[in-house]
Amino acid sequence: MAGWSSPQMSMFSGELLLGRIDGARRYVAARHDLRSRVWLQAFREYQKRKLDLYQTMALLHPEHYPEPVSGTDPRGRRAFTLNASDSRCYSEVIWGYECPIVDTEAGVVADHIFPYALGGVTQSTNRITLCRWHNSIKTCDIHFFPWERGEPPWVAEALCHLSKSVSLSSET
Ligand SMILES: [Zn+2]
Repeated sequence: MAGWSSPQMSMFSGELLLGRIDGARRYVAARHDLRSRVWLQAFREYQKRKLDLYQTMALLHPEHYPEPVSGTDPRGRRAFTLNASDSRCYSEVIWGYECPIVDTEAGVVADHIFPYALGGVTQSTNRITLCRWHNSIKTCDIHFFPWERGEPPWVAEALCHLSKSVSLSSET
């Protein structure tokens, strides 16, 4: 979990970049494999620490939410609120280079590091501020996601929340 508290990061190497892309490959494979499994069984393996990071992140995908979603959305609100102190574009966290745009008047946008569309929660540890130019190209691609930092600190709580919804829907 080390590294998640600090959003700063120096320019990363080609090796790190390839590692991130390989992380995305593993995530895609894990999503595919999970389709043939019972979600709650996979979740129990997570609780026993038998799932790797990519299988764990695949468990979060909204395709596993029960229909209709019972209770509140495990991800929380759709969007972050912007604070008065938000003024910096942290492009280096995702793309490895510092933002070349110095335009403080344009302001920044608060976005999810692990995309909301893939199950990322709206919490401070999954939050990043980007300039509007970087925000406009981020999309929900996770080939630059910082997999090397390990499991994000919000994941355990989000999966616990989701497991309760899935359990409720499987009982009825
Ligand atoms: Zn930027």
